[in-house]
Amino acid sequence: MGLAEPRRSANVARPAGQVRLTLQPGVRLALLAGVRPALLVGVPLVTPAGRRLIGSITGVDDRTPPSRDDSFARPPRSSSDPSPLVGDRPPRLPIESWLTDMDGVLIHEGSLIPGADEFVRRLVASGRSFLVLTNNSIYTPRDLRARLAHTGIDVPESAIWTSALATARFLDSQRPAGSAFVIGEAGLTTALHEVGYTLTESDPDYVVLGETRNYSFEAITRAIRLINNGARFICTNPDATGPSREGALPAAGSVAALITKATGVKPYFVGKPNPLMMREALNRISAHSETSAIVGDRMDTDVLGGLEAGLYTFLVLTGVTTAEEVDRYPYLPSQVVPSIADLLDYL
Ligand SMILES: [Mg+2]
Repeated sequence: MGLAEPRRSANVARPAGQVRLTLQPGVRLALLAGVRPALLVGVPLVTPAGRRLIGSITGVDDRTPPSRDDSFARPPRSSSDPSPLVGDRPPRLPIESWLTDMDGVLIHEGSLIPGADEFVRRLVASGRSFLVLTNNSIYTPRDLRARLAHTGIDVPESAIWTSALATARFLDSQRPAGSAFVIGEAGLTTALHEVGYTLTESDPDYVVLGETRNYSFEAITRAIRLINNGARFICTNPDATGPSREGALPAAGSVAALITKATGVKPYFVGKPNPLMMREALNRISAHSETSAIVGDRMDTDVLGGLEAGLYTFLVLTGVTTAEEVDRYPYLPSQVVPSIADLLDYL
């Protein structure tokens, strides 16, 4: 993508709740002592070099919740604060629709990130349209709903948007009732069936590669030969690795690289950071980009895709990207907040 790769990868994400910030003296101790970040409004986030990062820790003291009309406004900066801002852009319009990443934002390694359950509960109660996004194409929305429910987050099945669904919707818009040879799991095969695609090993329109935990030499060989014979190459997501408790897992992007090496053909990646995935998500809930926000934990997928789709972007620091890494990218999120718990006052 032409940018510096973060030192960290998905498999070494911090445990939930551990926010790694360089903060003013005393504030870090306050956070470690359990003080809610929302009570530290106005404290600057700074890089190790002392450079002001993105305004302040945001959020409003929950003892005085904002009225509906100013719920999208940021606390005003102090006129006595001389530090330069790298980015500090409050939403131009109230945020009416929300897209939120799943891993690193709502859950981490199967466990709830504090505040995520309340965030989703308030979203549902407010009647705002929202979708939970994931690049993982293994599971169906029903599977994912059950996995989230296990952690205490109650998300309707219809509010889950996977790269498999985005891929199926894309192919349906390009070649309705087409055919595909699929390497993937139920999340992908079900999505393609539901849009009317036929799965075949003989002369398909597309080879569609998704995530699986059982990549087979035979299936990869067949994919390579079908692509050599003219099948178009699609991949659900470009992630090179995925996280697990034991360490990195090879993900669809790595297998796609293998097939590209063998065929000379590069796939079209549908998942994040492709803004197509977010635009399709907005279409799904009839939302408009100028009044929608995305919450993500990765600069190179969530924030980049959100930026290119015209969304307001929140980076949370409970996943892959650290506060120190933000400044290394050639683009910025609209806001950096410690965790999704700091966004409750928007709802
Ligand atoms: Mg994530």
